[in-house]
Amino acid sequence: MNPVIALVGRPNVGKSTLFNRLTRSRDALVADFPGLTRDRKYGNGVLGGKAYTVIDTGGISGDEDGIDAAMAEQSLQAIDEADIVLFLVDGRAGLTVADEAIANHLRINQKKTWLVVNKTDGLEEHTAMADFWQLGIGEPRPIAAAHGRNVTGLIEEVLTPFPARDEDLPADTGTKGIRIGVIGRPNVGKSTLVNRLLGEERVVVYDEAGTTRDAIEIPYERRGEPYVLVDTAGVRRRKNVREVAEKFSIIKTLEAIKECHVAVMVLDARSGLVEQDLHLLDYVLTSGRALVLAVNKWDGLESEAKDKMRAEIKRRLGFADYADLHFISALHGTGVGDLYPSIERAFASAHSHWSTNRLTNILRDATEQHQPPMIHGRRIKLRMAHQGGTNPPIIVVHGNQTGSLPEAYKRYLTNTFRKVLKVRGTPMRFEFRSGK
Ligand code: GDP
Ligand code: GDP
Repeated sequence: MNPVIALVGRPNVGKSTLFNRLTRSRDALVADFPGLTRDRKYGNGVLGGKAYTVIDTGGISGDEDGIDAAMAEQSLQAIDEADIVLFLVDGRAGLTVADEAIANHLRINQKKTWLVVNKTDGLEEHTAMADFWQLGIGEPRPIAAAHGRNVTGLIEEVLTPFPARDEDLPADTGTKGIRIGVIGRPNVGKSTLVNRLLGEERVVVYDEAGTTRDAIEIPYERRGEPYVLVDTAGVRRRKNVREVAEKFSIIKTLEAIKECHVAVMVLDARSGLVEQDLHLLDYVLTSGRALVLAVNKWDGLESEAKDKMRAEIKRRLGFADYADLHFISALHGTGVGDLYPSIERAFASAHSHWSTNRLTNILRDATEQHQPPMIHGRRIKLRMAHQGGTNPPIIVVHGNQTGSLPEAYKRYLTNTFRKVLKVRGTPMRFEFRSGK
């Protein structure tokens, strides 16, 4: 499990700026989907061989009455989910009443809290720090998030107690088989599906002694093939579905996504798509994980309701159309077996290897079919393609003026590669490089 860092503070102190800096190593991988607004943002970063997760809280406006109102619900949740809290204040604005109110709250909290004074660029550090000692949170640490000043040193120190783990790949636990993570918001039918997928008698080992946040592995077999169910949400721990589910946690979902090879995202046909579904999907996509979509509770639905759900998916989940879509009933088991071929294919696609020759041929055919545009009187040339990585597959395209390639043309290439290589169920990434 990555250490989780929550950024807390009133609006405008520089939380997003710091968030962007801390997750910048991943910017290239972070897909941008307009229309997906979030109140809390989650991102990953790596520093000195240590991977971490950052939560940016929307901010606590000091204008509300009383700390309970001021500590917006979501900030509390973020603190709850975090191992470390970075409490940001504004070195230029100086100490404010709102800062004090937040500090009062944080002092009661058991979480390891660091007091971070931002915007110290151009300020005399010693003077800028003086006031903030009063907050009683400990030593104020000067940074300038916008310029990166002192940020690396601070984060290194913050991460000192945590062991190194630098990869966002599933832990190599030596267990055989595709690792499947079932994710989704509460009540969509995850536990029901997990029990269906496993089939009680096939459970080989079930390690009850999992710590609260770590993933629990459940190895099992189906038709002679080994699989591993990765359970972080505690879905398997519930003996029957009437037991109260654990509190929904995005951090746990992110952990499940990280620890699996293929995520099976469950949607609920009865409640339709909601914002939270889109956010979770966005995280899967950003993580680059292979994905299968299962629209659950398809049993006994009126055809009108079915049409509505289909239309909604088409309209709002276009960005995840690389994933196979299944309509299932976890309760009755209908369609559940069909998930397996999609899981297999998604896994295989994510781990495919293609020769430079093959990729370059596809590129050549694609550009012959449809030439790249002219830029400043010179045609963009795409010469060669090779594979830059797997899981998700990365295709690196070399040429001239590739920086000017229009989005539409990139999309055309992406679609062509996908189709020719028969890639299903995994995102693909493309990098365009220009030679001299
Ligand atoms: P948030 O509301 O806490 O997320 O704050 P933002 O990250 O949006 O930053 C608020 C404003 O402060 C923006 O105009 C930033 O450019 C500015 N800002 C952030 N960090 C720094 C810094 O280190 N120095 C200076 N001078 N300005 C900063
Ligand atoms: P979780 O919170 O995502 O793990 O969801 P559960 O598996 O606990 O299911 C939530 C509720 O939906 C329970 O009452 C289930 O019986 C019900 N449910 C789950 N799958 C189906 C399904 O395929 N069809 C119908 N009609 N109900 C279902």
